[in-house]
Amino acid sequence: MNTTAKKPTIQTEPVEVAPGIFRLTVPVPFRSLRAVNLWLLADGDGFTMIDCGWGDEETIDLLEDGWAEVLDGKPVTRLIITHFHPDHAGNCRYIGDRWGLRPKMTQLEWMAANAAVKSLYSDDYELRGTFWAENGASDELIDLYRKETVLYDTGVRLTDGFERIVPGDRFTIGGRDWLVMTGQGHSPDLVMLYCEADDILIAGDQILPKITTNVSVWPWEPLADPLKEFLDTLDRLERVLTDRTFVLPSHREPFHNATARIAELKHHHAERLDLVMELLPEGEARTAGALLEPLFSRELDGHQVNFAMGEALAHLNRLMFEGKLIRSEDDDGIIRFSRVSR
Ligand SMILES: [Zn+2]
Repeated sequence: MNTTAKKPTIQTEPVEVAPGIFRLTVPVPFRSLRAVNLWLLADGDGFTMIDCGWGDEETIDLLEDGWAEVLDGKPVTRLIITHFHPDHAGNCRYIGDRWGLRPKMTQLEWMAANAAVKSLYSDDYELRGTFWAENGASDELIDLYRKETVLYDTGVRLTDGFERIVPGDRFTIGGRDWLVMTGQGHSPDLVMLYCEADDILIAGDQILPKITTNVSVWPWEPLADPLKEFLDTLDRLERVLTDRTFVLPSHREPFHNATARIAELKHHHAERLDLVMELLPEGEARTAGALLEPLFSRELDGHQVNFAMGEALAHLNRLMFEGKLIRSEDDDGIIRFSRVSR
């Protein structure tokens, strides 16, 4: 397994994006993402930190450099982790030990992290490979998956305990009041923080600019409907956010106008659902694997095989729950989808 994929050069100097809010960007070993944004919020005698970065020596050095530059001799006094994914939770243990903190997370994200770090749940390598094969991924793609997928436990170390946060909690950080909201579809219960007075959203992976958030069906819940959960979350956000909201996303650049981006994301998924229907002619049954080439024009690396298969299935399952497709587990052990005949 290739766990040392070459990382691109990125701008890692901390930048103050709003008064008292600093962005620290660190690299991740995933080709399509390149980097993850961590946030340091000035908070009286200390700082609140949001997310941890992928866990390796290079990132730890960048954290130490960033702290030296931003903290002005003050400590990190609070750590909030948006969700369990390795680029967000990786250095949990290091940061926890360094500053004497337990991370604040939702209970579901904490549980997911603890399972994944033991190669269970989202990180059951064999289970995933079998599931992609059952869903029609080619032998070539399965080989690529086996060679290149990046395993969770190579980049994540957790603390022994956590502190639970739930939607509706409020944090006062540096004089700003932040409301905890959570989102589903990308990960089990992802935390976002919204400051209504200044109209700023710390978005995690829920709303990203330029790229779309991965929304996948995973092998342990083959009948999940994560696309519905993701779109429902966007509906909830749309009622709160504005066309002026300053969005601080976990990947790529901060941007203004949350509602315009939400509209784009909804449009994107509506188009993808239409495309999937077009790829399933009346009377023919197809696997998710058979849809990958038309759905994903770019060449996939082995780690992206997971996201491509998961996303194809998320759209297929959504159409099934809309009553447009039938899912069948056939005698050859392969899962296929076909149109409901009119
Ligand atoms: Zn994520």
